[in-house]
Amino acid sequence: MEILRTVREMQERAERIRSSGKRIALVPTMGALHEGHTSLIALARERCDVVVLSVFVNPTQFGPNEDYRRYPRNFENDERIARDAGIDIIFHPDAAEMYPDGFLTYVVTDEVARILEGEVRPTHFRGVTTVVAKLFNAVKPHVAVFGQKDAQQLFIIRRMVHDLNFDIELIAAPIVRESDGLAKSSRNAYLDSRDRTRAASLHRGLQKAADLMMNGERDMSVVRAAVLQTLEVDSPSQVDYIAFVDPATFREVGNPTGGEILILLAARFGVTRLIDNMIVHLR
Ligand code: AMP
Repeated sequence: MEILRTVREMQERAERIRSSGKRIALVPTMGALHEGHTSLIALARERCDVVVLSVFVNPTQFGPNEDYRRYPRNFENDERIARDAGIDIIFHPDAAEMYPDGFLTYVVTDEVARILEGEVRPTHFRGVTTVVAKLFNAVKPHVAVFGQKDAQQLFIIRRMVHDLNFDIELIAAPIVRESDGLAKSSRNAYLDSRDRTRAASLHRGLQKAADLMMNGERDMSVVRAAVLQTLEVDSPSQVDYIAFVDPATFREVGNPTGGEILILLAARFGVTRLIDNMIVHLR
């Protein structure tokens, strides 16, 4: 396994791999690897000859009062997990390599990047699309794998790939969960034991909404109230949003008649903000 730290080295390496006729898959991460990430790596492995894992805690996707500084970083551990998972190359630039002095150009997606996560975190998606575009140009992948865990991010990256004509196939990986349903996340490490227990209510809330809708409930205010009641947060103000959207457009659905509904939740347990989602298939 190789570790490359500069864009130039990565690009040269990618060019050599491509000219030998091999296919490259990219799995972008911020490190603090867990089984969610390794499930993405496994999908990448199935598709391509060479799998590149990027490990980069991207400063531009964090707001000024967010957790950029305390975000968990443990590169040695990530290296071990990556090696065990069969990664060929880790791309691990530092912030100055990705954003050198004078950096001025951002990739911005309209509309969808301003709602839900984008409303609570106004500069978040601009940071995500910018870094992902830069990673695509550094790694030159044929395939890139992203988790359904970050459903709005996945939607926006799909949009960007389409709108900006990146010749890259995107693969969406299902959400990997703990045994009590909590979606695996690097940020779960922030939870104390009480909040860790309560955080499983996110998944129970999604399950509750799905059950109600599968059993014919079409009044979304009823479903929303039931989810709110399930969430074990200290007060409703700890819930950032409960949203029901059409996964094809990310537009809010009123009273759905059928098809797929994506339920999205964001809530705070103590100081830890978590997101989760579930797709419901209505007949
Ligand atoms: P992160 O390191 O949190 O930026 O995540 C890197 C990638 O892993 C993103 O595409 C995430 O959607 C994906 N991911 C994170 N957690 C999970 C999970 N529990 N299941 C599946 N994919 C995940």
